[in-house]
Parts: sequence; structure tokens; C-alpha cells
Amino acid sequence: MAQKRDYYEVLDVAKTASPEEIKKAYRKVAIKFHPDKNPDDPTAEDKFKEAAEAYEVLSDEQKRARYDRFGHQGMGSNGGGPNMEDIFSQFGDIFGGGGFEGFFGGGRSGGGRRMKKGSNLRIKLKLDLEEVANGIEKKIKVKRYVACNTCSGTGAKNGTDLKDCGTCHGQGQVKRVVNTMLGQMVSSSTCPTCNGEGKVVTSKCDVCHGDGRQLQEEIIPINIPAGVAEGMQLSMNGKGNYPERGGVPGDLLIQIEEEPHEFLKRDGNNIMFDQYITFVDAALGASIEVPTIEGKVKIKVDPGTQPGKILRLRGKGIKDLNGYGRGDQLIHINVWTPKVVNSQERELLEKLRDSQNFTPNPGKNEKGFFEKVKEYFQ
Ligand SMILES: [Zn+2]
Ligand SMILES: [Zn+2]
Repeated sequence: MAQKRDYYEVLDVAKTASPEEIKKAYRKVAIKFHPDKNPDDPTAEDKFKEAAEAYEVLSDEQKRARYDRFGHQGMGSNGGGPNMEDIFSQFGDIFGGGGFEGFFGGGRSGGGRRMKKGSNLRIKLKLDLEEVANGIEKKIKVKRYVACNTCSGTGAKNGTDLKDCGTCHGQGQVKRVVNTMLGQMVSSSTCPTCNGEGKVVTSKCDVCHGDGRQLQEEIIPINIPAGVAEGMQLSMNGKGNYPERGGVPGDLLIQIEEEPHEFLKRDGNNIMFDQYITFVDAALGASIEVPTIEGKVKIKVDPGTQPGKILRLRGKGIKDLNGYGRGDQLIHINVWTPKVVNSQERELLEKLRDSQNFTPNPGKNEKGFFEKVKEYFQ
């Protein structure tokens, strides 16, 4: 994904702009870049969406405050901002009751036809723990329908061999008078001849055979924010399939899968690790190496360490998805008891059996299991 522009810059307003000024500025930008007014400028739709996204945030007192504090990072995982339908519903607020059609008079091409949206594409994306912890940009290969270049997505030869549908006269809807107990009622439904498109192709485009779209392999860069989890779904608006013969593309939905790590386990934003030490190390203390998501780290085991002790490596966990800091790595110390001993070991251990300091003598400082659980997992 390209670097996001500052929302204030997008709407060309000062950081101190009042809600009224923001509304005015958005209105200006939205009119300038409206896709219907810029059919020859492929960047217009992106600019239009960018403005809508900026307005969505800056027009909301809470979202704006959060954006001012944290920037784009603070705005969560939504990669692409609002979709076209949301944008058009925003216009009721901006341009008055009639919404978009009222404002432009005559309405969107075809009078009352809804903008057709293509189907969504779904992919699964496997991430390892390092990628989850820090976030990553992944380049993903997808096969999606894009608008046919030759006919500009119309399906018609040269993009012009179209005529208004004879059944609905270009309306995309047919009205029917139905007799009911309450009298005559007019119902309207999608025109069966043109499927609501309002136009029919008189001569088909040679390249797409009238579909107005072609299957294409594309490499799409996806910014995965740190802290995502198994089963979460990210969406990129407009990166799904283009519909047949015109409209807006659907979305690309990315379902996150977590690949389990060989040693480390995830618990929310914390990383859990089980470390076995010898009882010699537990008694005398030692310096040991433990794996973390950033590689190996040396930690100190104090002399007299009891099994079940939990050591905490601050900030070695997973970055919070909403920008609230970073988790820790918790190291659970286990003491390894030999399962078999040879005669020499047996002899040494027998000598220690009745040794004074080897007799269990838990004091107040030895916290029981429940205290530990309370302390660390509240
Ligand atoms: Zn074509
Ligand atoms: Zn029709």
C-alpha cells in the first residue's frame, strides 16, 4: 500500500479547522474528483475515496482526536477506508436530503440505478509469530477480474456499441401494476432483460466477449498491522472482482492464520515460554539463553530459584493492534528431575539426601500456585 497522506492535507485544511470548515473542504474535493465527472482520469476515484476516508475521520470528534494523537497508526486495521456505498450514503449529510442524485441533478448515470458492485475475493494468509509481533508488508499474488482495457469495462465493441435497454428504457428497473385487496399498487423490480444494467450491448467487445472484464494475475502489497490474530479479517476496498459490464470492484478479504512457533506460545499480546533448568542451576544460579521473537537472549537465574517461577522480559511480546504498547515474554521456569541416574550420580545424590539445606522448607516468600496465577494473569 502506498504511504497514506495526512488527512488534513487531503482536504487541504488547517489542523485547527472547525467542523464546518472540514465539511466545506470535503464538499469541494468530492465534487472535483467525483468519478462520474472524471471518466478519463483513473486516479480520480482513488482521490475521491481518499477524501471520503479523511472526512470520515475528521468529521467524527472522537476519531479526529485519536487521529491527532496517533496518526494513521491509531486508526486500526482497516486498510482501505470506506467503500463506495458508504461514501454515497455520506452525501445525504453533506449535500442535503437528496444525497448525491439530488446534488448533481439528473442523478447518477441511468437515474436511480444502484452502482453495481463486484464480488469479494477471499484469501487466507499465513503469518509466523515474528510477522504477527511486528507487522509486515506482504506481496500477494491474486487472480481477479479487472475492467477490460479494450472496451473500458462496458463489454461493447469500442466501448460504444451500446444502446438503452428496450424493456426498461435505460432505467434498469421495470414497474409493474399489481392488483391487491387494497387496490392497485405499483411495484418495481430489476429489469430481467438487462439485469438492471440499463444498457444492452449491440456488438460485443472481441477481447472480453461482452463481459467487460478479464481475469488478471496481480501482485497486491498488503500492509499487515502488528498484533493481528488467527481468524481476523482485513479488507482492502476495491481490490476484489470488477463486476460484469461496469460498476465498482468488490473487496479483497484477507483472513489471518497464525503459524505455530516451534517453542514460543502466544497468549494475547504476551509470549509464553517453558524453560527447563537443572536443579544444580536452580540451586547455584546460572546464566541461560532463551529464544525470543527477536532471537536469543541471555537471562539470569538466581541462586535458590524454585520451579514454577515466572521471569518477565518486558517489551519482548507482541505489539498491540490498537497501538497500546507491547506485550512481554513470560518465562516459566521448570526444574528438570533426572529420570534415570547412573551409579556415580546415585552415590552423589544419596550423600545429599539428608543434607540440611536439601530439606524442603518453604517460607512466606514461596508463593503457591494460586498466588502466582493471580499475580501474573490478572
Ligand atoms: Zn472488452
Ligand atoms: Zn433493462
